[in-house]
Formats: sequence, structure tokens, C-alpha cells
Amino acid sequence: MNPANKGARVEGASHWPAISKDVAAFPVQPNMPDYDAARRGFTWDQARQALAGLPGGRGLNIAYEAVDRHVAEGRGGKEALRFVQADGGTRSLSYADLAEQSGRFAAMLKGLGVGRGERVFSLLGRSPELYAAVLGTFRNGSVFCPLFSAFGPEPVRQRLHLGDGRVLVTTKALYRKKVAPVRDSLPGLRHILLVDADGRPEPETLDLAELLAKADPNGEIADTQPGDMALLHFTSGTTGTPKGAIHVHDAVTAHYATGRFALDLHPDDIYWCTADPGWVTGMSYGIIAPLVHGVTAIVDEEELDADRWYRILAEQHVTVWYTAPTALRMLMKAGAERAAGHDLPALRFIASVGEPLNPEAVVWGRDVLGLPVHDNWWQTETGGIMIANYPAMDIRPGSMGRPLPGIEAALVARDADGKPIMKEGQAVLVTGPDTMGELALRPGWPSMFRGYLNEEERYRRCFAGGWYLTGDLAKRDADGYFWFVGRGDDVIKSSGHLIGPFEVESCLMEHPAVAEAGVIGVPDPVAGELVKAFVELKPGNEPTEQLQLEIIGFARKRLGAAVAPRLLDFTTTLPKTRSGKILRRLLKSRELGLPEGDTSTLESPAGPAMTLKERP
Ligand code: ATP
Ligand code: MG
Repeated sequence: MNPANKGARVEGASHWPAISKDVAAFPVQPNMPDYDAARRGFTWDQARQALAGLPGGRGLNIAYEAVDRHVAEGRGGKEALRFVQADGGTRSLSYADLAEQSGRFAAMLKGLGVGRGERVFSLLGRSPELYAAVLGTFRNGSVFCPLFSAFGPEPVRQRLHLGDGRVLVTTKALYRKKVAPVRDSLPGLRHILLVDADGRPEPETLDLAELLAKADPNGEIADTQPGDMALLHFTSGTTGTPKGAIHVHDAVTAHYATGRFALDLHPDDIYWCTADPGWVTGMSYGIIAPLVHGVTAIVDEEELDADRWYRILAEQHVTVWYTAPTALRMLMKAGAERAAGHDLPALRFIASVGEPLNPEAVVWGRDVLGLPVHDNWWQTETGGIMIANYPAMDIRPGSMGRPLPGIEAALVARDADGKPIMKEGQAVLVTGPDTMGELALRPGWPSMFRGYLNEEERYRRCFAGGWYLTGDLAKRDADGYFWFVGRGDDVIKSSGHLIGPFEVESCLMEHPAVAEAGVIGVPDPVAGELVKAFVELKPGNEPTEQLQLEIIGFARKRLGAAVAPRLLDFTTTLPKTRSGKILRRLLKSRELGLPEGDTSTLESPAGPAMTLKERP
């Protein structure tokens, strides 16, 4: 256990004791030793000073910040990316390798006539070609849009069509299975580049390796400006049809600053972000932030497997680990004994994002891995971390933490219909502690999305009364820690109470038999809605009626009868997005026999791809 986290505990705002920090015992001094001082002294302009900018003051380009500047400053030989293959073996790319490969990719795009602002899509696993394609696209001034390789043909078609994809980089197998069937309906898709064509591309596709071999390794870097579009990211589709969020090169300023404060990246770190670059986390924090900081980033080419993950943490000497609640809950479900035998002396910081992080998981981290898990909150739209728990700040388990330096967050009051309340053009803010409101951010941070592609009106509706409205509900305690309540659409109204599913799910997870839970409201003529829980059990527990009653009783004791679930079903697989979020809207529509809506990001119905392999 890291001695820095053993310190005295003080009472937090939840019934979980706060976890205090002893900075003097940290193996490395944190980048932000004093949160309040850092906030006071921070400006985004100052943060920009840490970046190089294009030589000759020509502008700002993410690829230059991530790769070329390290080469220019003599760090080209440093290991940038370390890929862990299926057999546990590794292959690495240095910063100089990345400069060369992305240079070739940019020159190749130019040769194909792909210009500034045109969209380059990927449908790839986490292979080296993906990383060169991302950086090469930025370099060429084109726009990158990553797709998750597990998408089926329809989600692929839908996104390529919406995003006006000009180029697609993929593999032979993925092309045959997912692109060929829909190719005819994508007239704008001019070039399909296969990474593994081996000299024999499919009809109407190109051999990427061959093109790259012929391309200039010093492909020019476009003089993009901070406000030029760089990335298109589709949201997770948790609440409905995924939206295409537009991001610009200036986002790199936020990736740098948040990598520094919220992930505490130091140049010698071995950093592992487990998210797939098909999602915004895997791009912002799996590629851009670590490379801009010049660290060595681990990329696991395989899917989640408890033993494998513990092995990677140990064998690769990972120092900073960024993961997700769904993955942590799977590790918890696999049992603490799986972690035993894997010493993790190098690990000094763990963070998580994507869904509410149950306090149970924060404390599990401390007890099993030797470090508490630091929750942080953000969205595809925000482009970077907005609220976080920092290394040198006490953790209140269950809280998302406090806003990053440079980020102003507030809670906007909502009326009975859930609409934000405005007065004389200004949003009415919730001021008292522990009162719920819609989480809002003051616009103007560099990684803020600049639009939903082709949905101008929807974009405009996100802003009101001087704030960007996130659609999430939260509370803030007297010390400025934010507490997630639920997505606006997920909050349950029962007998006059507003109930956030997160609180109920977290309580259920404290029951020793419960691995994971999803909570929804179902209509009831008397109460308006009743709280219903869907519960996945830990291995070795039988779904009996007695256990059902016991869990309901357990929740009642902790939450009170008004908030505890009245109904409880056992399930073996909660529906989740491919990025691992519980799809409560699907639990609800299935429960009520309603149409399922957009399921393009639903994990395969046969069960999650991120299954834990059982021990033989
Ligand atoms: P869609 O917008 O398509 O419905 P999505 O909102 O799940 O999908 P993302 O942008 O990937 O798409 O996810 C952002 C959302 O995830 C946040 O608005 C919030 O609801 C949830 N989230 C992320 N991090 C946290 C966290 N630490 N605690 C609670 N919720 C979180
Ligand atoms: Mg969203």
C-alpha cells in the first residue's frame, strides 16, 4: 500500500469516511500541491504558454505538440507508445517513429487529394496504424473521426454518412464484414485504406502500407489555427441517437492542462488509459494528453481480462492508470484474490471516468490495489476533464471532486418540468449546499465542443443564461465538492421525492452479494414512479426470492423506504454501451415493452465483450 494514503480519515459528506492525503509521503511531488492556489493563479492563456505552437508562429496543431516538438527538443528516441500484444509481448514506437509515420500518413493523404477539414475515419483495433493515422490526419489539417471496431455495419454507415467521411482506414476483415455491405450507400467515401492488405487489397480499396512506403516521411505539417476543426467524436448514445461533437486544435491546451492537474502526468510516467480511442477518452487521454506530456503510454491490444490487466499493471510498471467504473466493477466482481500476487509498487495514481464511480469502488482501490480511485467527470462535449479528484486533495468517496483550474462549474435550478429556470436572461443558480441542480459550465474552455455536426439548433439549446447545460444533475457540498445525482432523464420521481439512480445503485453494491446494479423508475398510479432495481450477482450467489427480499431490506435500512427499490429483478447482463455505461433507458423500455430506440452503441446482446475470463 502506498503510505501516502494511509493517513488519518476525516468524515466526508457521505457515510463513507473521506480519504485524506499525505503529500509528504508521495513518491513524486504532485503537479498541483495546492488546489486553491492553482485555481487562483490559472488562466488558459498561461496554459497555452506551455505548448510550443507551430514554428514561426504559424498556428497550433495537435500533432506538432504531441510528437514533433519532442523530436525538435531532442527527445525523439524516447518510447512513446508501448503496445502489449495478445501473448504479453510488446512492440514500441518512439516519438521519432511517430513523427516519421505520421509524416508519411499526412503526405499520403495529400497525395490522394484529401484536403483541410476533410474527414478521415478509422475502424480499427488498438494497433500502431491507428495512432499514425490520427496524428497524420491532424498533420494534414484534416479531421479525424474514430469508430469503435466492434460497431456493426449500420452504426458504421450511419456515422460515416453523418460525418461525411472521405477516407476510411480499416482492416480487411472489418472491411468485408462491416463496410462492404454498406459501401454503395456512401458515395462521399472516396478512399478505403486497408492496413493489412499485404499487397492484395480488396476490390476498390487501397493498400495502406504500399502507399505509406512511397510517401515522404517528412510530410509537411499544416498551419492549422487554434479554432480549426481537428476531431469529430460521436457521443456514447446512452440517452439516444449519438451526436457528432466537433472539436478544434485548441483542445490540446485543455488536454495538456488536465493531464497535468487531474492525471498528474510527469515525463517519466508509464501511463495506461484503458479506453478505446473509438471514444473520446481513448483519444483525449489515450493519445493526445500522454503524448503532449512526453510520457510512455501503454496500449493493450486485447480486451478486459482481470488476470491480464493485473499482469500489465505489474509487468509494465504502470505509474498512472486511467480506467472506467465498469472495468473496476468487473475487477471487483472477479474477487480481490485475483489481485493478490501482483505487486504494484510503481503505481502511484488511479483515476476513473465515464459513469458514476460508486464509493465502494473508490475504497476497493485503496484496499486491494493500495490506492484509492480518483473519480472525474466530463463528457464528449467538454472534450476534456472538467471536475476531478486530485492527488493532493482529500477524496470524499462518491464525489466527482472539484472543478479543474480554469473551469467554472455551477448548478442551475430546474422547474417542475425539469427545465432550467432563467430570470432576466440569466440562469438561476442553486446556491445552498446539497441542493440538486443541473450541472452547468461557463463556456470558454479550449476543448469545448464547437457544434453538433449538422444539428445547429440542438447545439444552441445546450447554452442558456450564460452557461453550457450538461444535462446531468448534481449537488455540491459546502466545500465545493460535486456529487453526481443522475442524468436529467434518469432521475426518478416517486411520491414527491426526486431520486437519483446512482445513490440507489451504490447502496445496492454495498450488499456483499451484489456485483452491479441498474436502477430505473417504472410508472405507478399512486406514487408516480416506483424505484426498480436490476441486480447482477457476484459469482457463487443464487438468485433466490429470499436474497431478493434481503437486498431490498438492506437498501431500505440504508436509504429509507421512500428511496429504496420497491421492485428488484436479478439479471445476468445489464445492457451497456460499448464504452461500458449502463443503458438505463433500455432497461426502462424493455421493462415497459416500448420501442428500444437507437441501439447502435449497445454491447452485443449475447453479453458484454469485456467479459472476465473465468479461471480454469
Ligand atoms: P449520449 O450523450 O449520446 O447520451 P453519453 O452522455 O453517455 O451519451 P459521453 O459523452 O461518453 O456520452 O458521456 C458523458 C456522460 O457520462 C456524462 O454526461 C455523465 O452522464 C456520464 N459521466 C461521465 N463521467 C462521469 C462521472 N465521473 N460520474 C457520473 N457520471 C459520469
Ligand atoms: Mg451525453
